[in-house]
Amino acid sequence: ARLFGRSRANSAGFDLTDPVTQAEIDAARAPFATATWAAGPVLAGPLTGGAVWDVVNPARTSDRVGALTIAAEADIDTALAEARSWDAPVAERAAVLARAAEFYEARFGEIFALLAREAGKTLPDAVGELREAVDFLRYYAVEAPKLTAPARGVFACISPWNFPLAIFTGQIAAALAAGNGVIAKPAEATGLIAHLAVTLLHEAGVPRHALQLLPGPGSEVGAALASDPRIAGICFTGSTATAQAINRAKSDRLDPGAPLIGETGGLNAMIVDSTALPEQAVRDIIASSFQSAGQRCSALRLLYVQEDVAGPILEMLQGAMAELQLGDPWHLSTDIGPVIDDRAKAGIVAHIAAARAEGRVLAELAPPEGGSFVGPTILRLQGGIAALEREIFGPVLHVATYKARDLGRVVAAVNARGYGLTFGMHSRIDDRVQEVTGAIRAGNIYVNRNQIGAVVGSQPFGGEGLSGTGPKAGGPSYLPRFTAAPAGVAQV
Ligand code: GLU
Repeated sequence: ARLFGRSRANSAGFDLTDPVTQAEIDAARAPFATATWAAGPVLAGPLTGGAVWDVVNPARTSDRVGALTIAAEADIDTALAEARSWDAPVAERAAVLARAAEFYEARFGEIFALLAREAGKTLPDAVGELREAVDFLRYYAVEAPKLTAPARGVFACISPWNFPLAIFTGQIAAALAAGNGVIAKPAEATGLIAHLAVTLLHEAGVPRHALQLLPGPGSEVGAALASDPRIAGICFTGSTATAQAINRAKSDRLDPGAPLIGETGGLNAMIVDSTALPEQAVRDIIASSFQSAGQRCSALRLLYVQEDVAGPILEMLQGAMAELQLGDPWHLSTDIGPVIDDRAKAGIVAHIAAARAEGRVLAELAPPEGGSFVGPTILRLQGGIAALEREIFGPVLHVATYKARDLGRVVAAVNARGYGLTFGMHSRIDDRVQEVTGAIRAGNIYVNRNQIGAVVGSQPFGGEGLSGTGPKAGGPSYLPRFTAAPAGVAQV
């Protein structure tokens, strides 16, 4: 049966192993299997409208999903001129956000359909994403009354396509819960789902002046927001390079106290030593590297496996990888869907091709035709993490081996690389786990499990170094950063 329930702190989602639930989802999605959506800017003033983008399904480019009108320059001006803080009492704001969570849940059929057809999300990923979105809404609604400082003003919320509902909603919900207004700039690739989310938030009672939507290119919309003095703070999730560009734009024009809350890239490592349980490690490596087609900033990019067990672990990994089903994310049997678009695919494929030219491909699966698919791939990496030039945002796992006596050097190299988002370790020696996890600098550290899928309220998510500014989303330090703490009081 469906597992949504109000008695739990976190929503439990849907039990996809239950045939009754499967049938219920199929029925709810059916009307949206071939539907098309039309979306665009949502403003508290008159709309001009710019170019219209065709939205196509990344799994099947012949499937047209809808049309997205992007913001004209005049629309950016209108949004900035009309934006206001949300000055309703905190209890009312919390009630509206909690109501929005109900509205999101009620529309699960359309949401799952859009997540599959616009963003390439498999059904388990779509269920996880809806859960996370409603968890953010409810969690920040509960946290808001604890705030002691007033709102800052109007936030620009700039969000990524890889969690087009959850992160989009989480940023907005946090800013609104604290009493700010929001201008949301969704990722170029996922404007339709963003538009649906904004519609539901407005229906739940968020005033238009407190929440406007500006779809469009980051170089135009994002850049305009990041350099407008009417913006009191920026919440951004995306690449490290974009965060750095936003930070430069912001320091020229925004109030020096305006925060940039950034959650950025990672070069996430996992260490598997010779005492690890191989079956468990392999299961968790596969999930961490390939679930969501590797398009999570938390995903495992570099596996360090102790030399003594590398042979059998790699053999098991290849066997497990060969079992993965690639295909249309609409079908429950699909484990791995497409990457977001052909441009993303080309970048990942070029990385694999360079490794192939050097004879470093250890295993790969052939991708299906007809969409932006990349087969999961395992590459050998010489030189450890220092040799990884950038985050490859796709289903590509790099593997390096290490000798037991060099464990300390592995940890030092991971820290020296400068990212610090997630880190995983598989080992049955407690002292070693304590030593390594105590020394690693990363926001989210996972031991003897996979390293993706942080849970709102119990596993606040965020990195350090090149991976983000903190505070962590879904944790108690997050909302205060959206408020104006009195001068001289440090914000954590
Ligand atoms: N919170 C997600 C996770 O724990 C990752 C978020 C992201 O990819 O930006 O897997």
